Amino acid sequence: MTPGGAPSALERLSLDDLDPVELSGRRVLVRVDFNVPLEGAGGKRRVSSDARIRAALPTIETLLERGSAVVLASHLGRPKGPDPELTMEPVAKRLEELLGRAVAYSPDSLEGGLVPGRGDRGDRGVVLLENLRFDAGEKANDPAFAKRLASLADLFVQDAFGTCHRAHASTVGVTEHLDPCVAGKLVQRELAAFRRLLESPGRPFVAILGGAKIAGKLETLRGLLERCDRVCLGGGMANTFLLAAGNEVGDSLVDPDLVEEARSLLERHGRSLELPVDVVVARELAAGAESRTVAAEAVEPGWKILDAGPRTVEAFGARVRSAGTVFWNGPLGVFETPPFDAGTRAFAERMAAATQAGAYTVVGGGDSIAAIEEAGRTIGRAHEEGLDHPDLRPRNVFLQPLEGGRWKAALLDLDRARIAARGARAPAKKKTSSGSTGLLRRSFARAA
Ligand code: AMP
Repeated sequence: MTPGGAPSALERLSLDDLDPVELSGRRVLVRVDFNVPLEGAGGKRRVSSDARIRAALPTIETLLERGSAVVLASHLGRPKGPDPELTMEPVAKRLEELLGRAVAYSPDSLEGGLVPGRGDRGDRGVVLLENLRFDAGEKANDPAFAKRLASLADLFVQDAFGTCHRAHASTVGVTEHLDPCVAGKLVQRELAAFRRLLESPGRPFVAILGGAKIAGKLETLRGLLERCDRVCLGGGMANTFLLAAGNEVGDSLVDPDLVEEARSLLERHGRSLELPVDVVVARELAAGAESRTVAAEAVEPGWKILDAGPRTVEAFGARVRSAGTVFWNGPLGVFETPPFDAGTRAFAERMAAATQAGAYTVVGGGDSIAAIEEAGRTIGRAHEEGLDHPDLRPRNVFLQPLEGGRWKAALLDLDRARIAARGARAPAKKKTSSGSTGLLRRSFARAA
């Protein structure tokens, strides 16, 4: 509920708000994110990490409990057309194991042969459609493809948080044909975390932003500067700010077009914006390259900043330790190439510790998540050695799909949702239709 007591548009939209009667005996198209890593080749391919499949189980199980026939649709990888290495078959197998029931899968399932109540193969509870991107109509949001997809079901559940910002046939196109369109449990949970960050963050609210470039994150950075008590910058994105603050950054990665913007943000928000105080530099980006730790003001020509130094990790760690809410996205260094992963790993341990100490922590971005999961395990071992922590797993490590410029869309959508909930007019929107926006627009129409 919003502070005024009215339910927000997002709350109204979820699967849980539908009357179970509305679901019984209906065919439900569920857009899931089964874009999972695979290993092996040919017929031996198997899912190597089933985290995304597990994440969709609560929605699938709820629908089955309520008597729905479930039609699951996802993309897998980036095929240019039908590609035997990227069929959904291994995903169907893993889903079958996890659900403990049969999952119908057929390469031609989009034709509807296996969809319950549509073909002559009897009633089947769960169908997994073939990789949506085998058809160019998916990415193009082709109306004919969307209509065909929608014709397989009666209503639509969006549970692919990693994809719902994209305007594809399975995210936006189908919502023109199916009613109601609601968010699934996974999307609902992730949006709830955003709501908490936007509406009621425990103070101090600290954000840590890393990653390569500022370009895709500028709007988010501005949004965070408005909301947070402190924003710490690391990774490549800090370099442009270090340059704008008058430092030499040698051959480091910078966004030359954004130096002026960085300077003006430093002027306006200098007191809440925190930059690295020391950095790890090398002449070349290569595993095991000779590296040095230097003060942020002492980078020499010919050297590149490739990681945060230990004093920076300590300083950011101290902010996080005393925070009520922490939002972290993006590695503090070139995480993929040791030794430049050290800063991110050391910081992840500070994050995990802050989580245990009671901070509400939200982590986004594949690199940050990998680092914090590892940190969680490290602390898990410490626990076995006698430390007494009630919850060793970092909470809310689930914003992984909201990377880069894409979380901007989700943040803006939520703002719009809040405005709609207050009964005010949503601001005019540029034509950047996203999946979640598509869903939200429908909710506004209904809320109006
Ligand atoms: P992003 O997708 O924007 O979160 O960026 C993630 C990427 O940022 C990772 O691939 C890192 O290697 C890269 N990165 C982090 N720090 C630096 C740096 N100092 N210089 C160059 N790349 C970096």
